Amino acid sequence: LKLISIIIPVYNEAESILPLQHQLDIYCKDLYEIIFVDDGSTDETFSIIHSLAKKDPRYKCISLSRNFGHQNALMAGMENASGEYIIIMDGDLQHPPALIPAILEKLDEGIDLVITKRNKTADISAFKKITASLFYIFINSISDTKVEANVSDFKGFNRKVLQSILQFKEKDLFLRGIFSWIGFKTATIEFDAPARQFGKTKYSFGKMLKLALKGTTSFSFKPLRVALLIGSIISLAAFSFGIFALVAYFQGNTVPGWASLIIAIMFLGGTQLLAIGLLGEYIASLFTESKKRPLYLIDKTINLS
Ligand code: UDP
Ligand code: MG
Repeated sequence: LKLISIIIPVYNEAESILPLQHQLDIYCKDLYEIIFVDDGSTDETFSIIHSLAKKDPRYKCISLSRNFGHQNALMAGMENASGEYIIIMDGDLQHPPALIPAILEKLDEGIDLVITKRNKTADISAFKKITASLFYIFINSISDTKVEANVSDFKGFNRKVLQSILQFKEKDLFLRGIFSWIGFKTATIEFDAPARQFGKTKYSFGKMLKLALKGTTSFSFKPLRVALLIGSIISLAAFSFGIFALVAYFQGNTVPGWASLIIAIMFLGGTQLLAIGLLGEYIASLFTESKKRPLYLIDKTINLS
């Protein structure tokens, strides 16, 4: 029997903790450890985990000093997991513990990384659906590493994969990209994600946008080439236009041409700003990397040495 670590990042999920623990008890009786990463919650989350951990030493907690975000919280959990199989999942019951036995079975068959894919998510807003699918179309068109749509952060893997993930020292973490970058023997399980039972999503539109940008700039240089490409095409067009204007001038039929002028100025200005903004994103992420700040800071832990 393998030792199984479950890692659950939670940010203000007070109502979900006990129902989740109840389900874990039903579907996976012999867990080695359940590590909650309290990502700077401001509600009762920590004290609920605390009382749970008092009764059952398998329940552990890493409490971060503030909200560091889902990706960093996951990293905190993974750096502290000591099991042979590791499962990461959300703490809001949208990742059904009933799926865990199927994941473990695959790992036992020799699969290194089991990823899960949402068939459908109950209750998801049309806005989130559209923005998410646009994001995946976009990222896959520019990125060399394929990031599959609807893949969730509910995954199971062995220590070999864990050690690989821990080698990534980047500060702008985009774990979904990293998990598909590393390779290894991978299997996919599909599931229907239920609606969120308690609380509301902690991924605001702003946070999703940030994640999307992170995924873009940390997995591809192609956007930079797009800027170069558009720039060259426009320069070429401007050059041809210059020749055209010269010819027209010598033929004596020059026109007032205010419209063409303003269009050219605005178009050039726009694409320049776009390209500069893009450069700015890459420079910003260089800046983040070069500061080498810690991904998270731990305030206190329970049942962890
Ligand atoms: N989460 C976190 N830190 C954050 C945001 C979210 O630890 O800054 C946790 C959250 O508590 C949940 C998981 O990450 O357990 C997924 O978040 P959520 O369910 O809000 O995202 P959604 O399912 O809506 O994409
Ligand atoms: Mg959720």
